[in-house]
Amino acid sequence: MYILKVLVEHSSYQLDRTFDYLSNDYVETGCRVSIPFGRQKIIGYVTECYQTDKTKHQLEEEKGFRYSFIIQIIDQKPLLNKELQELAKYMAKQTLSTRISCLQCMLPIQLKPKSQKTVGIKYEKVISFIKEIPLKTPKQQEALNYIKEHPLLPVKDCPYSLVVLNNIEKQGAIQIIQQEVYRDPYHENIQQNDFPLTPMQQKVVNEILLCHDFQTYLLHGVTGSGKTEVYLQLSRHIIEQGKTVLMMVPEIALTPMMVAAFKSRFGKQVAILHSKLSSGERYDEYRRIVEDEVKIVVGARSAVFAPLEKIGLIIMDEEHDASYKQESNPRYLTSQIARWRGKYHECPVVLGSATPSLESYSRALKGVYHLCSLPKRINQKPLPTIEMIDMVEEIKHHNYDLLSNKMKTKIQETLDKNEQVMLLLNKRGYASYMRCLSCDEVLKCPHCDVSLTYHKDSKTMRCHYCDYQIPFIKKCSHCGSTNVKLIGSGTQKIEEYLENNFLNARVIRYDVDSTRKKDGHHELLKRFENQEANILVGTQMIAKGLNFENVTFVGVINADLSLNIPDFRANERTYQLLEQVSGRSGRGKKQGTVMIQTYNPDHFVLQCVKNHDYQMFYKKEMEIRQLAKYPPYCYLISVLVQGKKEEEVIWNAKQMKEYLKKQLPHVGVLGPAPCTIYKMSDIYRQRMTLKVTKTDHLYETLQMMMDYYNKKGKVNVICDFNPYTT
Ligand code: ADP
Ligand code: ZN
Ligand code: ZN
Repeated sequence: MYILKVLVEHSSYQLDRTFDYLSNDYVETGCRVSIPFGRQKIIGYVTECYQTDKTKHQLEEEKGFRYSFIIQIIDQKPLLNKELQELAKYMAKQTLSTRISCLQCMLPIQLKPKSQKTVGIKYEKVISFIKEIPLKTPKQQEALNYIKEHPLLPVKDCPYSLVVLNNIEKQGAIQIIQQEVYRDPYHENIQQNDFPLTPMQQKVVNEILLCHDFQTYLLHGVTGSGKTEVYLQLSRHIIEQGKTVLMMVPEIALTPMMVAAFKSRFGKQVAILHSKLSSGERYDEYRRIVEDEVKIVVGARSAVFAPLEKIGLIIMDEEHDASYKQESNPRYLTSQIARWRGKYHECPVVLGSATPSLESYSRALKGVYHLCSLPKRINQKPLPTIEMIDMVEEIKHHNYDLLSNKMKTKIQETLDKNEQVMLLLNKRGYASYMRCLSCDEVLKCPHCDVSLTYHKDSKTMRCHYCDYQIPFIKKCSHCGSTNVKLIGSGTQKIEEYLENNFLNARVIRYDVDSTRKKDGHHELLKRFENQEANILVGTQMIAKGLNFENVTFVGVINADLSLNIPDFRANERTYQLLEQVSGRSGRGKKQGTVMIQTYNPDHFVLQCVKNHDYQMFYKKEMEIRQLAKYPPYCYLISVLVQGKKEEEVIWNAKQMKEYLKKQLPHVGVLGPAPCTIYKMSDIYRQRMTLKVTKTDHLYETLQMMMDYYNKKGKVNVICDFNPYTT
């Protein structure tokens, strides 16, 4: 008989521990079993299994509790290999979450223990040739010859009718069988060859290939410097050595060109993991990785858990991107997981960006990471020239329009030359909010502490947090006045404005709303690439990874929107956003220009963007961080306290602060203060921010505090290491 230690996920049981069960058979760790739990039957993971000579009765006498037998072994082979099981332990500790939640987040949804979903394996009818025999008709004979030349031909691809095939099958020359197939989400097959690398690219590739151990490289390459080509050729070398590559991108849907590049170079050796695949497609891609059929995995955040064996290289493109931080439990930082796996596989980890995060760049300067640079665009193409437009001046000249006169002229010129324009407005929807001019009330979401946004296509006012929506009525809900006004402007309004003000404008709007459909991103970008439209207007989604050769003008409608976010990273985010979006201009043969509209043209961030001076930005921003004691000069931990009753949230948060100050005297505790969005979906939220330089006793103290309050159940406490939103 065997004793098993089983991890379970149970809503009434949040603590991280295993339960003992008995089994007559040996079960490998990492396999799932179904077990009785109270009166329920649930599913858990086996984390240990050892033999015992004792009987159930003897064990119970000895331990003083009752043992149950498992009901069934679900997996014959462990779902997660040894490496990923180890990783789950590390992650649980680093993120203060349960080991089961870490294991869960590594699996595709179909394999999660709690999942009710079952996605079947897909089968397809294929024709199997059996033997050559004389057939009844010449047509059948002809078909048989064809089949002989096309082994395992899918029935649907066969030029002969099913009637003919059935007749041949009856005579015993062929057999129609069911064969397992993979759903392939990317059927396009364009073959593309490697470019000869430039000397600078070659130098980077050589340097990284020399490394046969764990080392983190920070590849700082300006936009258009050919980082993608470096990734591709590094990957080729690694798979030629018989190893595999993990290629991470911020969001697949936003980086279709990276996916296309890998697919066209490596074809079926690549698996793509992302959220917009159907669950069947995703499951199939996952199985192809498990079955060792792919050499390269391209995917967004969760792909960092791809069950690849023999990893020889891990790449994280756009390493600064906020999407690499998981914002729900377990709140991991992708680069931390990537580096753990790099250590495990003794391979290099490459973090690439035109605008590295301050954390990474400071590590590179300290020598923790190895810095590689591509400071020039390919073929010495100049970076676009950037002009700041002072919107205060526009108002002085009585222009209250969304666009300055200069930008209008420039857009018209660009369109007239048959070139394309990209416009950034970091706000979706039509107008930001509705204000009553009589009583000054703003129409807000009743569940969240934010204003509702007007959506023109559906004529609704919507909450961007909980998706609450009501029909748009031109009347104040507070005083009943009809003297209300839509204020501010989002992407939908700009779209309309452009269509009304530029005769030859053909506009595509690219934001969360316009790309909701499964292939939404792809379709819109294809249309822009095919010149069906000449203006692409969008939110920060247009800033990443797009490469359109005919775009020669990029306009930023309001740079101040992101500078004024109440977040210590506001400057950094703005620098990154503006540098990235500027980089979309002039990537082809023609020189590109950029205009940025702002009310603060002298702001140092904007000046650094104008001069493409990352080093200067880094220097100045680091001074600010040092003065204010923010990362990278310390680690931040956010402690979120939330609950339905406002007084309880406030009172408990204060108690926690006292506890933390006593237990962790070397840690600075800010707050508790209401979160930027104080009320979300009827839950009140207070936050404390810890500034940490020494981690002594840190994990244990926080874990104890969380366990205590979460068990009591009045409020819910979440600790977030390296939070990305405040
Ligand atoms: P980044 O990712 O650094 O912004 P890309 O990898 O998109 O830059 O490269 C910019 C452009 O330069 C692309 O059109 C790419 O095809 C081209 N390119 C990259 N490397 C080379 C090379 N060695 N020779 C010629 N063209 C190249
Ligand atoms: Zn809401
Ligand atoms: Zn009113």
